[in-house]
Formats: sequence, C-alpha cells, structure tokens
Amino acid sequence: MDFKKLSAFLKEKGQPAFRLKQVRDAVYKNFAASWDEIPALPAAVREELKGEFRIHSLDTLKTQAGKKGDAIKFLFELKDGLKIETVLLNLIPEKWSLCISTQVGCPVRCPFCATGRKGLKRNLSPDEIVDQYLAAASYLKKTRNHKVASVIFMGMGEPFYNYESLGEAIRTITDPELIGLGQRHVSVSTAGHVPAIRRFAKDFPQCNLALSLHATEDDLRNDLVPLNRTYPLSQLAKAVNDYIAMTKRRVFIEYVLMDGLNSSRSQAARLSSWLRSVAAPKYFTVNLITYNRTGGPYRAPAKDRVQVFAGLMEEYGFEVTIRKSLGSDIEGACGQLAGK
Ligand code: SAH
Ligand code: SF4
Repeated sequence: MDFKKLSAFLKEKGQPAFRLKQVRDAVYKNFAASWDEIPALPAAVREELKGEFRIHSLDTLKTQAGKKGDAIKFLFELKDGLKIETVLLNLIPEKWSLCISTQVGCPVRCPFCATGRKGLKRNLSPDEIVDQYLAAASYLKKTRNHKVASVIFMGMGEPFYNYESLGEAIRTITDPELIGLGQRHVSVSTAGHVPAIRRFAKDFPQCNLALSLHATEDDLRNDLVPLNRTYPLSQLAKAVNDYIAMTKRRVFIEYVLMDGLNSSRSQAARLSSWLRSVAAPKYFTVNLITYNRTGGPYRAPAKDRVQVFAGLMEEYGFEVTIRKSLGSDIEGACGQLAGK
C-alpha cells in the first residue's frame, strides 16, 4: 500500500499521527487484508478509507496445495489483469520458504524455463512484491499457524532486472518496524547480472546470493542462459569474486542438470575448476536441481547420473545439495511458474 499517500490522507482528515502506525502494524504484523480487519480505527475513518485505498495490490485467484502438503502455490491477479505465481515450500519441518516473483515473465528467456518462454510483460512494483509475502504469510498463519521462515526471490522473473523495486521490497521485508525478517533469511537468485551483483553486495551484504550457473563453457551458457552473451563467464567470475571479497559470504550455485547437455563427468570437473578459479570451495554451496519438465526438448538425467555428479562435486571439495523437487505435481517447482 502507498503509505505516503495514506499518511497525507489521514492528516487531511485530522487523524492523529498514531493512526498510520496502527494501519502499518495491522497490515504487516497481523496481515489485515481489508479495512474491516482493523477495528482499532474509528468506523467513520474506515468507511472513508474503503473508498480511497485498497490494502493489497493483488487478488488471490487460486491456492493449490501439493499432494504431499510440502508445497502450496498461489495464483495472483494484479490490477491490470496480469497473473503471477508465488510458492510456499516446506523444506524442513515447520520451516516454510516463500518463493517470490519480481516480474511478470522474464526478459532473459532461458529456453528451459516456463517463465522465460513468454518474455517480459512488465516489472512488479514494490507493493506487488511485498503483497505476495503478506498474502502467503497470512494464509500460512490462518491454515496452519506457521510462519514464513525465509524468503527467496526465485519465482518468476530476473530480480536484478527490477533492482529498485526488489531493493524497496527487501527493505520492507527486513525492517524490524515493518515485517522484520532477518536479512540472513532473504536470498536473491540471479541468472548472472554482473553490475547488480556488485551493487547487491554493497546494499544488502547480509542477504544471500544464489547464482544460476548451469554451464561453465560460454558456448553452452550462451544458449542456456542468454544473459551470458551480455555478461560472459569471465566477467561473472570477477563479479562473484568481488562479491565474496566484499561480503565474506558463501554463494549458492544453482545448477539445473539436463540430460546430454551439462551433466557429464567432465562437466563436473569443469564446474569445479571454474568455481575454484573464483574462490575457495568453502565459499560455495552447489545446489543441483534436476530439470523439471516445462514442455521443451530438454530432459532430466537419470537419477544415478545426478548422484554421480553430486559425488564428484563432493570429492572436489564442495558442499553439495540435491534440491528436492517439491511442488512439481502442481507445476510449482523451479522453472514451472508461468502464471497460467
Ligand atoms: N531468474 C532468476 C530467478 C528465477 S529462476 C534465476 O534464473 O536465477 C529460479 C531457478 O529455477 C533458477 O535457478 C532457474 O535456473 C531454475 N529453473 C528454471 N527452469 C527450470 C526447470 N525447467 N527445471 C529446474 N529448474 C529450473
Ligand atoms: Fe528468467 Fe530465471 Fe527463467 Fe532464466 S531461469 S528465464 S533468468 S526466470
């Protein structure tokens, strides 16, 4: 919600200054979604507000839970009718991660990703980003009395192509006076936007950075992540090295394994040497993601291949996780979000 406008409106109506804080607390701490859910406000003020302000910038069209109950997908409609998706993932018992979108579509157009296939429709506003959190957190509280433990900007879109709105949303989410999640529980995933990686290190040194790498040969990466044509691997290596030097933080390397493309033994060796050329292995966690079907020509490698790749990376000295593919039965897994 536009709190500046609200502040001016309340002043004009002769309301005391604490009204603004009442609304803020109701919206951010208690997840009020309508004016009637803020009984602390005088009824007459609520009526006037109803005509002037909407608390949320999006409507929930659909809420879909996966069979195992470990993934919940939300379909939201924005004011202009465009649709976005947000996913709650239960990776550790009672610890929910919220995967948030930053754009409608994505301009990077990775050919294996459902979001990228349609290109970019538009950027989301800071409110549209934060309201995904409010809607999902409110649902989780009402239905299971659980909290959102972490936020990952890994939904639809390339967060660093919408840096200003992303930054404002992170400030709202981490401000103790507002939502108050710790910066360490916020992660941003990028396809490799070099200038923004350095900027992020300065602006949000306590947040986590995830880099979607997928290949360590420029030819292949140009095809898989077209942003590589703008920021090739050599530039990316320097930016990640600077990021680590500036923040002393580990970087999460996302690597989607696709059959016959990037999952061979020699490619594991290449991945290891590329990472080692950037920084010591202790600065990386390699997240291996098995390709989720999105309708293209790509295929997931066989399970044992994924294990072999993971085993090799461990032998090379890296911390490795194989991402559980939660939510694929509701098309809520990595890369499957299309806002349908
Ligand atoms: N644009 C950002 C964040 C959103 S994409 C980025 O690319 O990092 C989130 C993650 O899902 C990325 O790591 C992306 O590579 C991965 N992904 C995309 N399509 C996928 C698919 N079909 N299967 C598995 N992971 C996929
Ligand atoms: Fe965009 Fe990320 Fe999908 Fe690539 S993987 S098209 S960068 S959302």
